[in-house]
Amino acid sequence: ADSDTLKTLQQVDSIDSDVDPMERSWPTRQNSKHLSHILDSLKRSSVLSEWDIPYEELEIQDLIGAGRFGRVFKGKWHGDVAIKVFNIETDNDLQLASFKTEVSMFRKTRHENLVLFMGACMKLPHLAIVTSLCKGKTLYDTVRDRRETLNMSRIVNIATQIAQGMGYLHAREILHKDLKSKNIFLENGKVVITDFGLFSVTKLIQYGERKDDTLAIPPGWLPYLAPEVITSLRATSQYTDSDLPFSQASDVYAFGTVWYELLVGDLPFKTQPAESIIWQVGKGLRQSPSNVQSRDAKDILMQCWKTQPDKRPQFSDLTQTLDRLPRKRLTRSPSTPLHLSRSAES
Ligand code: ADP
Ligand code: MG
Repeated sequence: ADSDTLKTLQQVDSIDSDVDPMERSWPTRQNSKHLSHILDSLKRSSVLSEWDIPYEELEIQDLIGAGRFGRVFKGKWHGDVAIKVFNIETDNDLQLASFKTEVSMFRKTRHENLVLFMGACMKLPHLAIVTSLCKGKTLYDTVRDRRETLNMSRIVNIATQIAQGMGYLHAREILHKDLKSKNIFLENGKVVITDFGLFSVTKLIQYGERKDDTLAIPPGWLPYLAPEVITSLRATSQYTDSDLPFSQASDVYAFGTVWYELLVGDLPFKTQPAESIIWQVGKGLRQSPSNVQSRDAKDILMQCWKTQPDKRPQFSDLTQTLDRLPRKRLTRSPSTPLHLSRSAES
């Protein structure tokens, strides 16, 4: 063996504690077979290549839609997939590094209620994430569909699945940062959460492209933002998501808003201008679903929407609370007016 191979094999040998010390003196035929096996698996695990998808292998089909960070296509890669193509400028190392960091986190996600991450194209100029294609409807569309009546046991079932998927993410120390009904799909009753962790990539891009100094607030974003996040929004073109205090608790706040949508069929502060929402949330005012009879259902809302982040429950608490919820006596009528209430602080 040449000296480089020898060196590598020695390193491998020294980290392989399972090998009987008596057998460490090599080369024996059995041993070198064992070592080359370890070398192979080291090669596989040390680099991202397992998750790298060559752009040429993707068959890009119809455009599904354009979001904050780029475009989403239907495509083929060993079957139907969703391909998110990012507009990242070629010369921005920070964006590229951030993209790679986020992508490396998705590998850790294996849960029924999370979209399946299949891999990514990591070579500029083709940055893309490949996930399974969600064929159902988004929760956003479902709650607004008048033909679809969600009874309470279905609402609780959906909320439980969301809380379970989110609890798993948090246990893996991944923050969603963009939990909203448009990022939740329903497929034959099963909840599939998408776009977790993508916020970091997307915001960098959005703000990198902006020309003026006004704060660009995507429509429908504010109702999901916890007060501590809202109050740190500033009119600057230079900020990244690391300037915003996202936390597990801010994900729980967003879940509260999704819970509200499930109960009411629309977003809180629906028709109000951004300044007005920011002002009210800052004052501790929350919209309360006056037509929902159940104290328990409102209670969950007020727990998730607490002003102080550390007063909000964890997702594991929420799954338990939801499990204990009586499923009768709850009504939902989307047309009933709403009133404002001050968030209950203790
Ligand atoms: P948003 O989440 O704000 O709607 P996105 O950029 O995430 O914006 O999505 C753009 C479009 O692509 C939306 O219509 C969304 O429903 C759809 N989409 C996103 N991810 C998937 C997926 N994994 N499967 C099917 N459709 C998807
Ligand atoms: Mg999305």
